[in-house]
Amino acid sequence: MPPLDFYQNQLETLQTQGLYRHCPVIQESPDLTWPVIKINEKKVIDFCSNNYLGLANHPELIKASIDATQQYGTSSRASRLVSGTLHLTQQLEQAVAAFKHAESALVFNSGYQGNVAVLQAILSKTDTVFFDRLNHGSLIDGVMLSGAKWQRYRHLDLIDLEQKLSQSSVCGQKWIVTDSVFSMDGDYGDLPALCDLAEQYDAHILLDEAHGTGVFGDQKSSGLAEAQQVSNRIALQFGTFSKALGSYGAYVAGPQVLIETIVNKGRGFIYSTALPPGVIAANAAAVHLVQKEQHHKEALWKNIRYFESQIQLAEPQWGSELIHPVQVNSPIIPIVLGETAMAVSQQLLEAGFFVQAIRSPTVAAGSERLRITLSSSHTKGQIDGLIQALIHSLAAV
Ligand SMILES: *Cc1c(COP(=O)(O)O)cnc(C)c1O
Repeated sequence: MPPLDFYQNQLETLQTQGLYRHCPVIQESPDLTWPVIKINEKKVIDFCSNNYLGLANHPELIKASIDATQQYGTSSRASRLVSGTLHLTQQLEQAVAAFKHAESALVFNSGYQGNVAVLQAILSKTDTVFFDRLNHGSLIDGVMLSGAKWQRYRHLDLIDLEQKLSQSSVCGQKWIVTDSVFSMDGDYGDLPALCDLAEQYDAHILLDEAHGTGVFGDQKSSGLAEAQQVSNRIALQFGTFSKALGSYGAYVAGPQVLIETIVNKGRGFIYSTALPPGVIAANAAAVHLVQKEQHHKEALWKNIRYFESQIQLAEPQWGSELIHPVQVNSPIIPIVLGETAMAVSQQLLEAGFFVQAIRSPTVAAGSERLRITLSSSHTKGQIDGLIQALIHSLAAV
């Protein structure tokens, strides 16, 4: 085997730059109930998971998953075009289409894979994508793979978007691609105004509701498109089962013609084994539950509002110049600190709170941050504890 020095040097460079990454190990312990977890033999409260509604531990999801696994086994055996689609999957897709007010839907193995498959399938070299600068990495990779031209507009800046739309002379299709709730900032834009622009300039919209689904929408909790009443103006509504829905996998909902295009051209769909029955059944239980049990969402928003009120009281006590005012728009709350974010995250862990620091290249250098995520499962006491620990750590930086 030839030497691997090149890779060793690369890793060492990352280490000297403070950009080396590794995954903390969670020690499973049956006696602990999430959001209490164990890291390094220490019990800590998890404030960095996307389990916004606590559904990952819901008895109905667990039961659905066990039942389907017992009945149908642990694998779907091949890709769907080869070995067929389970009836369970077909039912799930019908439920997702109804949930999203769409004609049709298609399930993928993960959000990352789904975005790459969708964008690669619907775009070709003659098309142009208008792309929010802070969109998720999976959307970036999908556009790159498609070979389409792209124009990135300033984050949530519809004036910049309009300028780019009006100046482009495209012969192919135009697509506006955007997160609904942004994964590292927790903010979101004015979707009716975005739809107005799209219609004015003949552009289709792909909206990634990974963090909106289950969290926004008064009737069905289906996402920001429902909350802002634009579901019928958006060509493709994308989302995941892996966040508020407490399970795993992803979906896209939209017109039949686009879904068929993705089935026929989406390599991430074609060349990958389908999700196993146990996961499909848990996903179906989750789609049913978020619509039926609104109290999880209500509890989440109560926690969001409580955190907001407490952080506003706490901010004057930090005495740190580094910090942008904290904006609370969703369960994702960024505390932008710059380079000290890593050290503060470590101090919080020692104080019993698991809050990850997000670094470059996931966010721009200089905007390193703590990314706090709230869940309906957090107690007031746990939120109070986190805020006290934050005041303590930030006073010291
Ligand atoms: C998490 C996320 C994805 C990827 O979903 P996975 O199921 O985790 O692969 C895609 N888009 C956005 C906006 C996300 O936040």
